[in-house]
Amino acid sequence: GSLVSLRGVGKRYPSPTGEVVALRDVNLEVQQGEFIALIGPSGCGKTTLLRILADLEQPSEGSLSIAGRTPQQARQDRLYGYIFQAPTLLEWRTALQNVMLPLQVMHLSQGERQERAKAMLKRVGLENFLHNYPWQLSGGMQQRVSIARALAFDPELLFMDEPFGALDEITREKMNLELLRLWESTQKTVFFVTHSIQEAVFLSTRVVVMTPNPGQIAKVIPVDLPQP
Ligand code: ADP
Ligand code: ADP
Repeated sequence: GSLVSLRGVGKRYPSPTGEVVALRDVNLEVQQGEFIALIGPSGCGKTTLLRILADLEQPSEGSLSIAGRTPQQARQDRLYGYIFQAPTLLEWRTALQNVMLPLQVMHLSQGERQERAKAMLKRVGLENFLHNYPWQLSGGMQQRVSIARALAFDPELLFMDEPFGALDEITREKMNLELLRLWESTQKTVFFVTHSIQEAVFLSTRVVVMTPNPGQIAKVIPVDLPQP
């Protein structure tokens, strides 16, 4: 079966002038290892869709499952990591401490947590910046710490909401290349929100194009796998 399944998912937000329909009748099946790019005009519900998948928002109708579980169960089982547009690192903690922090819920010793966090930071090329504070790191490096932190539980899925949108173009392209390599070597399933059709086609195995007002899937475009 599919790793992620959305059936007739809709979302309405209350608003002073009635209701905002953010999503309507979204149906999508995603297999393990796919890289899905979500694209569409501002306000078409991309973030809402990601937030519903990640159990940060409840759907108004329809059903969805992740590895046969509800989003809430999937969150409890740490099946996914979420990466926001702006880095959400704790300013008074080093890169290493930021990645170690969520691992506190695991039954690991301090030393084991540290080894695991170091391995994740190495994977994103930050082995020489373990003890830097976020303000001592570039924007790109801060997002790499966020990715290392999201990977720390070895989740099945990564939800990324315009993760490099705040970076300059050259850094963004560099980060996209690194993300592709990471995806190829880890076989994670990725949902990636972007404004750029170029980025979507470059990165993904399928581009999901959404309509504005309300957000519906207009088109799903399969993309040839990029050659490593
Ligand atoms: P996108 O990520 O594609 O820009 P969003 O998912 O952020 O779109 O928003 C989809 C629609 O839902 C927009 O019309 C937006 O104004 C509305 N919306 C999003 N979040 C809320 C909220 N918390 N309350 C009310 N309306 C919201
Ligand atoms: P990124 O591509 O991650 O945004 P930059 O392009 O800003 O990074 O920086 C390029 C290189 O400069 C980095 O790979 C790193 O070697 C070095 N660098 C950037 N910021 C720092 C810092 N705060 N301390 C030490 N070296 C840094």
